[in-house]
Amino acid sequence: MSRFRLDGEVALITGGGTGIGLGIARCMVEAGARAVLVGRREEPLREAAASLGDACHYEVFDVTELDQAPALVQRVIDRCGRLSILVNNAGIHLKKLAVETTEAEFISVLNTHLLGAHAMTRAAARPMLEGRHGSILFISSMAALFGIPRVVAYAAAKSAYLGVVRSLATEFSPHGVRVNAIAPGWINSQMLRHLDSDPQRRDKILNRTPMNRFGEPQDIGDAAVYLSSPAANFITGIVLPVDGGVSIGF
Ligand code: NDP
Repeated sequence: MSRFRLDGEVALITGGGTGIGLGIARCMVEAGARAVLVGRREEPLREAAASLGDACHYEVFDVTELDQAPALVQRVIDRCGRLSILVNNAGIHLKKLAVETTEAEFISVLNTHLLGAHAMTRAAARPMLEGRHGSILFISSMAALFGIPRVVAYAAAKSAYLGVVRSLATEFSPHGVRVNAIAPGWINSQMLRHLDSDPQRRDKILNRTPMNRFGEPQDIGDAAVYLSSPAANFITGIVLPVDGGVSIGF
């Protein structure tokens, strides 16, 4: 089973203080990795890092500060000795009709998901490529796989990840760095709290989910561990739905 472990790896997880990112961090720490949680708000990061113990610390950082990414990566390497896993998970949601979505809102979503992830990847990939070892994950969405109304900017960003992942995989994989995406179904997190006041939508989602439940952050965490572990050594450039069957259900 050691091929499914991450002993000795150092993982930087953007948005690691809450929800899916925290689930990924928890699973990676349990699998033997050190986790660095990144986000804008210190309080959730501090609580999350404390709950994960000594194998975890946090960095307050905004991924839209694109030119600061190399310094963040250097701080992690100085403290932990290496950086071998990057999880581009930080995200914001925007639920709005397309005709009401402004350029500023569209740009803000793209900045966080796409340019932020690119800046982090560019900074983290250099030491990974030099060391010929690494795993980079992008957290995509069902919005990249089928049409969902009122998420035009979010769908653009999450769909773009799939092209980015394929392109990066062709550039990096010959040098020992694998690049993959996970497309989560509907996962219990802060991002889903709006369903508390929208039981109709909640039922719609559950009715089209063959497993008839929402996912948990751990479901995504387990997949992230697998994709970053030696057990997935021949897997690169893919998007793995972790969705209780939503993407194949009718
Ligand atoms: P959360 O809102 O809990 O997580 C979003 C995280 O991103 C927060 O920790 C937030 O921290 C961080 N973040 C947002 N903007 C920035 C920024 N500019 N710089 C650094 N960190 C940032 O929701 P989820 O856990 O659900 O979302 C995690 C990812 O999973 C997102 O990319 C989301 O799109 C994706 N996803 C979620 C699904 C779901 O059903 N929940 C389904 C499919 C995909 P802070 O605000 O402190 O910066």
